[in-house]
Amino acid sequence: MAIEQVQPLIFRVPSVLGPRRFAQWLVVGDERLLLVDSGIDGTIAEHVTPALQEIGRTPADITDVVVSHADVDHYGGNGELRRTAPRARIRSSVEDRPWIESWPVISRERYGWYRRHGLDYDEGTWQWLEQAAGPDTPLDGTVADGETIDLGGITVEVVALPGHSPGHIGVVHHESGTLIVMDAVLERGLYTTSDELISPPPYDSVEAYRGTIDRLRSLRPARLGTSHYAPVEGGAAVTAFLDASAAFVDDLDAVVDAELGTAPAPLEHFWRAGDAALGPFSEMAVELARSVGAHLDHAVANGRAVTSVDARGRQVWGAA
Ligand SMILES: [Zn+2]
Repeated sequence: MAIEQVQPLIFRVPSVLGPRRFAQWLVVGDERLLLVDSGIDGTIAEHVTPALQEIGRTPADITDVVVSHADVDHYGGNGELRRTAPRARIRSSVEDRPWIESWPVISRERYGWYRRHGLDYDEGTWQWLEQAAGPDTPLDGTVADGETIDLGGITVEVVALPGHSPGHIGVVHHESGTLIVMDAVLERGLYTTSDELISPPPYDSVEAYRGTIDRLRSLRPARLGTSHYAPVEGGAAVTAFLDASAAFVDDLDAVVDAELGTAPAPLEHFWRAGDAALGPFSEMAVELARSVGAHLDHAVANGRAVTSVDARGRQVWGAA
């Protein structure tokens, strides 16, 4: 089965990406058809097109695409959409747009962020990221928090859910309590299809990520539509998912705090402590360093830590 009907007009397109679950979402109105995320380069042909066929549609029917955020597994199908879905207007948040449109920019600023701290992905991961990103594809515009998309018979609203990326957005269908959140909240990390924890939850701002968890709670969703998790269905499951996401942030904050000593240390020190305490993570493990960096920024902002550059030119953090 290439498609799952979650609500009368809301569908999940399930697949597997490497070791983990993967999904895009469709909202099918009378007049317009919305796709949330285009996957990696290849996802449109391999998964979205067969899914649409099961409901008697084709990519040519797609009128709207909302890209939730700037990660290759969420926008890499944009080039395919240009070829197969000529009516599709592809949009993202204004914040994430420059990364989504340019491999040189995202590879330097998002995926290459770790290098300034002496950390990096391995060569195989870099090759996979570049291939998955597909060809650079200009977007048609941006969407912002509160904007509604009337598809004919069903209207959804764009909601800003920053933290995992600066401009992460989701799509809400208020009437059914369906929140398509993609990677905006990431529980205690990413799991294999057999529920083994393998990758950390990356976020670049502690305040923004916590704010997103709180905002999602306030919307009282009946279900969450994610990219990489089994369906989160029902209020109790939603609460457990959000509680686990919040607990991870609290736990990592405590680990980083405990490691702040009188001898200032580089990011790698705090990252290794976080990985040991909350992992160990076997895939994309370096991405925990992004969250750890966010906690260190947070500690500096709250006066708990001070940062400086040591004699070797590395940024280091110690107790205030
Ligand atoms: Zn992501």
